[in-house]
This record gives sequence, C-alpha cells and structure tokens, in this order.
Amino acid sequence: MNLSEKHNEWNQVLDEVAKLINPSYYQSFISPLKFFKIENNKLILLAPSDMVRKHVETRYLSQIETAIYNIYQDRYHVEILTEAKESAPVMNELAIDRFQPTNNQFNTDYTFENFIIAESNRLAFTACSEAVNRPGDINPLYLFGSVGVGKTHLLHAIGNEIIKKEPWKKVRYIEMTSFLNEFVYTVRQSSRQALESFKLKFQSYDTLLIDDIQFLNSGADKTQEEFFSLFNFLYQRKSQIVIASDRPSYELPIHERLKSRFTKGVQANIQPPSEDLRINILKKYSQIYGLQLDEISLNYISKNILGDIRYLLGALNDILLFKKAYNYFVVPYDKVKEVVDSRCETRRKTSDLTQETLIDMICEFYNQSRKDVMGKSRRNEYIIPRHLCMYLLHHIFDLNKTLIGRIFDCKHTTVLNGIHNIEKKMEIDKKIQEVINTVRFQFDLI
Ligand code: ADP
Ligand code: MG
Repeated sequence: MNLSEKHNEWNQVLDEVAKLINPSYYQSFISPLKFFKIENNKLILLAPSDMVRKHVETRYLSQIETAIYNIYQDRYHVEILTEAKESAPVMNELAIDRFQPTNNQFNTDYTFENFIIAESNRLAFTACSEAVNRPGDINPLYLFGSVGVGKTHLLHAIGNEIIKKEPWKKVRYIEMTSFLNEFVYTVRQSSRQALESFKLKFQSYDTLLIDDIQFLNSGADKTQEEFFSLFNFLYQRKSQIVIASDRPSYELPIHERLKSRFTKGVQANIQPPSEDLRINILKKYSQIYGLQLDEISLNYISKNILGDIRYLLGALNDILLFKKAYNYFVVPYDKVKEVVDSRCETRRKTSDLTQETLIDMICEFYNQSRKDVMGKSRRNEYIIPRHLCMYLLHHIFDLNKTLIGRIFDCKHTTVLNGIHNIEKKMEIDKKIQEVINTVRFQFDLI
C-alpha cells in the first residue's frame, strides 16, 4: 500500500497512533495535525502552531512513525511544519529550528520568576542562572533530587529564559526516555543518513537540557555509546549541558567513563522542601489561584504534606474545588483539614507501611538488630541507624519529638540532637542519602 496515493489514509494512521498514546494528549497534540505531503520516504505533516509542532517533535514522533510502520510495514520519516509557514521556502531542518525563535517547547509557568528559592534549592537555582548568563562555565550542570523538588521546573526555566533573552540560540529540552525512543527508532531504520541527521540535530544545540537521565541504563550499550559521543561533542563545542536526575551521578547504572564526565562540572543537590519553602509555595500558589487561606490552614497543610511539591499543589486544587462547590470566601480550617487528612489517608493506605516497618527497614539497611538500634549503646554503628529512625519518623509520620522520645525511651532533646545529626551528615554521607531516598520511595513520598 502506498501512503502517498491516499491522503485520507492519514486517518487510519491517526487511529493507530491513538492506540499508542494517552487519549487526552492525543486530543491536544495529534488530532490537530494535518497531512501535507510525501517526499520519498518522508511524510510531512502540518501543525497548527509552533507549540504543537515542538511538542509533537519532542514527544510523539516515534509513536507516529511506529503507527505508520504497523499499518504499511514501511518506514517513513516524519517531519512536521508549522501551518502558517507551509508556503515558506523549505529550509533544512536545522535552519528551520534556528529561524523560529518563538518555538515554545517550554512550559511557560516554569520560569525563574515563579521559582521560590530556599536553602534546599538555592545552589541549584544559582547554578541554573549561571547556565543562562555564563553558558559553558559550569559544564555539565548536574541537578539531582527526589521527585517533585523542582528539577523539571528549573530545566524549563533555563529554556524560557534563553528564548526570552537570546532567541536565536538553539536550545532543546528532552526527557531521556524520548531520547532513547528517538535513538532506537533511528537505529532501526538502519540507514546511515538517518543516524547522521539524528546526530547532526543533537550536535547543533547551544544548550541541551536533559531530564531524568536515570533512564539511561547499562543495558542500552549502543545508546550509551552514542550519548557519550554526543556529550563529548557538545562539551568540546562549549555548548551548555544541563542534566536532571533523581540520584547523584555515581549511583547511575551507566558506564564509569560516562559517569566521570558528569562530575566535571557541578552537581547540585535539591533537598526535599523544608517547611519554610512549603509555606512559601502554598502562599504563592494560593495567591495565584485566588484562594484565601489563614495561617493555621497554611500551617496544617505544610506540616502534613511533605516531599513532592506536586502533592502540595494537588491539595490546593482540592481546596479550590471546595471553595467553588460551597461558595466559600475563605475556606474554613476544618474543611482544609478534611481535605489534607483524606489525602494523607489515601497515601498511607497505598503505601501500607507502618512505623514498625520503617524501623525494621533501617535496621536491615545497616545490618543491625532491632534490639541494638532501639537500645542505649552509644556505639557508632547503632547511633546512625537510630538517629535515622528518629529523623524519618519525624519527617514521614510527622511524629513530634516527645512521641519519638517515648519510642526510643529517651528525652526529647536527645531526639532533637539525633535529627540534627542526620541533617548535618546527609549532606556528605552517601549511604544516608540513599537510605532516606529509598525509604521515602517506599513510603510513596517521592
Ligand atoms: P521534579 O522534576 O523534581 O520531579 P517538578 O519540577 O516537576 O519536580 O516540580 C513539581 C511541581 O512543583 C511543579 O509544578 C513545579 O512548578 C513546582 N515547584 C517545584 N519547586 C518549586 C519552587 N521552588 N517554586 C515554585 N514551584 C515549584
Ligand atoms: Mg521532573
């Protein structure tokens, strides 16, 4: 079957794509695409706006290409043009990118202005501003931290800032999974030309923002190889590379030589949001949402919803719904509490873990018996796991220090010191960071 003869068969392709992606994304990004023409094995589509074009290019090209292959058993390379530019002289891919300064692959809410700075993210924030103002000085810039601490926000903020200040620059945001899809698809085409143009495209960026690098894994040797050479190319070309990850680079499941490249610049850790930051975020977003909340409500939310900032924003959305449903001017504290409690309840149920299992987990990590960790001995090998239990009981179960003191049969100041001890050590002790991350993950907090 020849796709070029039957334009309306594009609809068939659309149906196939619909099977591959989430329906709401399909509605927003795929159905607005129009068939334009076929050139050799290139299928050219039209997007109604640059935003849709960019988004489809970064996220859905491989799905469209797969759909075509599923139907026609033939490889087509998909290219997308923005509709208004349909009659413009066809430039090569790179040139098109360069002359479309208003491309917006970036989330316009994720800006530096909207990013609230606190101790936990100050280093990362500063380094990201440097990446815009003095590109190449910190190279690569490697951001890491658990889910929902603002990594993706910062990557987009860099992109937004660059296209605002220096619109001629070529900047690209890509999630590692999309990079992998795109690469695997290119390789499957087994055409040297396809691989060349893939490489050329990536080598042309002045700034490359790579999100969720942890998905580059040790199994994908060929991809790693390609990524390694791309990295070196961009590095030598002095392009700014910014990488976001859920873990420090030494913990990535990748080859040592690539890991060591990542340590050449700066590794900026973003810590889970402190209470201060949570309060400030709540204040800022409730203002944006037109939601008035009193101090006690703000405090209740921020004390109970920890970790991922998305949960905070989710709670605000629920409260906003209450406000609308009941026509409240100021949503009363008991309603706020209801929303927050029910959110915490669902999360605890899904994680189904108790304070007991938390303590057991820590003992297991440190290979110590529960009796010793819960006991009174001041030996170093018991102290760290003991203090970690205190720290995590406080942060995950929101137990106050007196209660924790009862569990460990000690004074509340001892608990306080224990928690401080971990806060101090977690900056430098990799094992502590790892344990905290794993436990938070188990408890569905990251
Ligand atoms: P990550 O990529 O680390 O998982 P995101 O960048 O997706 O986290 O952040 C999750 C949500 O929290 C986003 O809506 C983001 O805008 C918001 N957010 C995170 N950190 C901040 C911050 N410091 N100030 C304002 N909003 C933030
Ligand atoms: Mg992210």
